[in-house]
Amino acid sequence: MKEISKVAAAVQASTTLKVDALFKQMKADGKDVVGFGAGEPDFDTPDNIKEAAYKAIKDGQTKYTPSNGIPALRQAIADRLLADCGISYTAGQIVVASGAKHSIYIALQTLLNPGDEVLLPAPYWVTYAEAIRMCGGVPVIIDAPETSDFKITSKQLEAAVTAKTKLFILNNPSNPTGMLYDADELRALAAVCVANDLYILSDEIYYGLVYDGRKFTSVASLGDDVKARTIIVNGVSKSYAMTGWRIGYTASDAKIAEVMSNYLSHSTSSPSTISQFAAVEALNGPQEGILAMRDVFEQRRNYIVERVNAIEGVSCRKPEGAFYVMINIEKLIGKTLGGKVINSSDDFSLAFLESGLVAVVSCDGFGCSNFVRMTYAASMDSIKEGLDRLERFVK
Ligand code: PMP
Ligand code: GLU
Repeated sequence: MKEISKVAAAVQASTTLKVDALFKQMKADGKDVVGFGAGEPDFDTPDNIKEAAYKAIKDGQTKYTPSNGIPALRQAIADRLLADCGISYTAGQIVVASGAKHSIYIALQTLLNPGDEVLLPAPYWVTYAEAIRMCGGVPVIIDAPETSDFKITSKQLEAAVTAKTKLFILNNPSNPTGMLYDADELRALAAVCVANDLYILSDEIYYGLVYDGRKFTSVASLGDDVKARTIIVNGVSKSYAMTGWRIGYTASDAKIAEVMSNYLSHSTSSPSTISQFAAVEALNGPQEGILAMRDVFEQRRNYIVERVNAIEGVSCRKPEGAFYVMINIEKLIGKTLGGKVINSSDDFSLAFLESGLVAVVSCDGFGCSNFVRMTYAASMDSIKEGLDRLERFVK
């Protein structure tokens, strides 16, 4: 048989989804395993959103929609971006896709030519690096060490620019680090992008999950020249506990939106019609629910940070947003835990799952050694149990 696509054959399975699948399988096999792998809110989708989906089905909203999404949803997204981030888009600049992951992929397909370089701060969410390669681009990794709160500086960004650089991927607040760039830091990064004529793909899917009273700033709000080159990625998965509904979206320049929409019309057509109606309710309906979820996440974060830093051999910084903590396991490298010598984060996460019965994600796949990521999109009871197990495992 002839060789399959080289690009496709090189794709690595998502480490986050792999851990999640392994965890779910162990659970189904009757193992007493606790999961902090995939970042998926443990809350159920709010009832008003579910009701909107039932109503859509009853009203016969079960047909194809325009490939960029129903006008009511695109308007609801534009309204929410104005209300929450102070940025004005028309419904024509919004493109709805089947999850934010899909929006990222379509945006990269729209922007990249073979060999284009994409600046990607590490630690990064695993999908960016793979999706860049899947779209013919070349990830150029910029190191954002723990000592800099996992953030890059404008100097680092500038130093990584070459004649081939097309795009900078910003994820704020960040998965996996939970760190948040403030307005001044963003202004400095955006200035480099304007000066070097780079696009900015700004994944803001965790913008509703920011703690300690901090203020989220969208990079696109920093001026017309920045907005014109920014593609905002967002979705309802995280803030509204709607991971399974598969609705993501972008806000961008109208020409880019048109090309993305054309691309969608030959790949998925529109996302699920029923999910689109549910997302309209999520965005237009009462927002108190998401504030309540945010407060719960903040309490969990506080608990985890305190407990982790009290355990000998591991440590973590206090994240400012999203629902992830990066646990530094450097001091455990070379030790034997659960009967296995730990030479890497991959070794640790596998041993911790097999012997400690706790799922966390190795950050090797996030372009960062000696860390594992723990999500607090899990109940407080699980978090307590998981940290008790961590304490016993590393002893
Ligand atoms: N961006 C980031 C940073 C994420 O963590 C995720 C997690 N799934 C996504 C995008 C994709 O979200 P969705 O479920 O909408 O595809
Ligand atoms: N984004 C979440 C995570 O990082 C969900 C899994 C995925 O889509 O990668 O865990």
